[in-house]
Amino acid sequence: MTERAPSEIARDTLKMLASRKLLPTPENYMTLYREIAGTPMVLPFPEEPLNQIAKVLPAQNPGQQKQRALFELAVKKRDWVAVQSALVGYCGFGMPAADAGAAPARTSLPAGMLAPLTPEFLAQIARLIEYTLPALGTDDARFSEQAQLLLAAMRTATPDVSGVKSALANFSHRVSFAAEEQSEIKTAMLHLLQMIFQNIAELSQDDKWLTGQIEALIRASTPPLSLRRLDEVELLLKDVIFKQGEAKGRAMEAQDQLRLLLSTFIERLSLMAESSSGFHDTIERCAKQIGEAKSMAEIAPVLEATMAATHAMAQGTLQVRDELQGMRQKTEAAELQIAQLHIELDRASAQARHDPLTGALNRKGLDEAIEREVSNARRKQRPMCMALLDIDNFKKINDSLGHSVGDAALAHLATVTRESLRPQDTLARYGGEEFVVLMPDTTMDPGIEAMTRLQRELTKRIFLEGTAKILITFSAGVAELAPDETGMEAIKRADQAMFLAKRAGKNRVLGA
Ligand code: GH3
Ligand code: MG
Ligand code: MG
Repeated sequence: MTERAPSEIARDTLKMLASRKLLPTPENYMTLYREIAGTPMVLPFPEEPLNQIAKVLPAQNPGQQKQRALFELAVKKRDWVAVQSALVGYCGFGMPAADAGAAPARTSLPAGMLAPLTPEFLAQIARLIEYTLPALGTDDARFSEQAQLLLAAMRTATPDVSGVKSALANFSHRVSFAAEEQSEIKTAMLHLLQMIFQNIAELSQDDKWLTGQIEALIRASTPPLSLRRLDEVELLLKDVIFKQGEAKGRAMEAQDQLRLLLSTFIERLSLMAESSSGFHDTIERCAKQIGEAKSMAEIAPVLEATMAATHAMAQGTLQVRDELQGMRQKTEAAELQIAQLHIELDRASAQARHDPLTGALNRKGLDEAIEREVSNARRKQRPMCMALLDIDNFKKINDSLGHSVGDAALAHLATVTRESLRPQDTLARYGGEEFVVLMPDTTMDPGIEAMTRLQRELTKRIFLEGTAKILITFSAGVAELAPDETGMEAIKRADQAMFLAKRAGKNRVLGA
């Protein structure tokens, strides 16, 4: 094409404006001028209208807000590619609630665009996967590697959506196996743990102090498990290991002492045997000399020798007897020490964290549980309730059926309570027939409801003693932990409410 003079092009442009009946605006003039001159059509960037669009785009959720900001930025930079990707991203975030109108907009997107898989949405799934990974273990290196690759692919600025989709499908396939395996491992470990406990229990049937602890351990490690229960198992095990260690040390000492005594005894016995065989030889020799003697003068020295030997023998025997007596005393002292050791161990067991009769935490255990639960509640800013319950007319059970029936009734109440509460709740024996229940993540009304449910459960699970059916009822007070009080102060308030429940006629639950 030959070059035309600008004046010529300008003239033709004006002619065309007239023939096409277009308004002589600068835009129309420029469009026709370029058409006639054959120069490429470079439209100016419509910043103003696009900004206008940005202003009216709704930003009702974080996704929309972010995409609108990206859109504005793209307009500012005059970057068409960025404008397009911001708009596509924006389409992925529908209207928040009752957004039936947005759905068709999404489905009307061209097939394969997968509008809901925006980078934000993918990032959310990536976060979810990351949170799940620790639960699946770290033993399978290939699986961990696959997970990391998937996470990286999901977090790129422009994710390859269909690639990510198939990687996700692969990943979820492996996850299903890994999750199943983890669950099996957990069950098997728990089974193993219980077997170990059973075994220790069988080995230590004679040790009252140990069997009580082992029973509590078995109870605490029975599913469903929670971190709290595992914590309890750990504390119990620490008690058992500590006491076993102490018992072993002391028993070894006593054993060493007995071994020493035994070796001295054997030494003495052999000495005795030696001296008695010497004595025997002397007597034999003397008897022979007496038999061969022809006169009393010959017998006199032999008799003297015999007497001397007998005297020495008697002396030796006496010495050995004294020594043996001393040894017996030492043995008795060692026996006494071992008996003392058992008494001490019984006391140590009483100082453990669990009440042997009911398996509930004792006061020491309760103190620790309060500290743990209260600080947990404060840290997480979660509510927490304490209930104090006291069996009604318990003295009557003791008086009419005997103390051991009373004991069994206490154990029954503890069992029913444990089974009726959630795994994260804690039961402690506060006093004779008084119990405290710690209920994390619980406000007043559900706290009262939990105690009322326990009352109903006790009427269903009547305590049987021989042919007698005994209905155990209790009165309880429930207090929700206030921001400015200690755990013990909350329990005191629950105690006051329990007292009011007694005054109001027993067998009821009152909030503090
Ligand atoms: P209330 O309804 O007012 O609570 O009356 P109560 O009879 O339950 O209460 P009281 O405080 O008069 O009596 C509690 C009884 O609990 C007295 C005590 O002998 C008994 N007790 C405390 N500890 C044990 C225990 O370990 N075993 C048994 N069998 N009885 C216990
Ligand atoms: Mg009482
Ligand atoms: Mg009572």
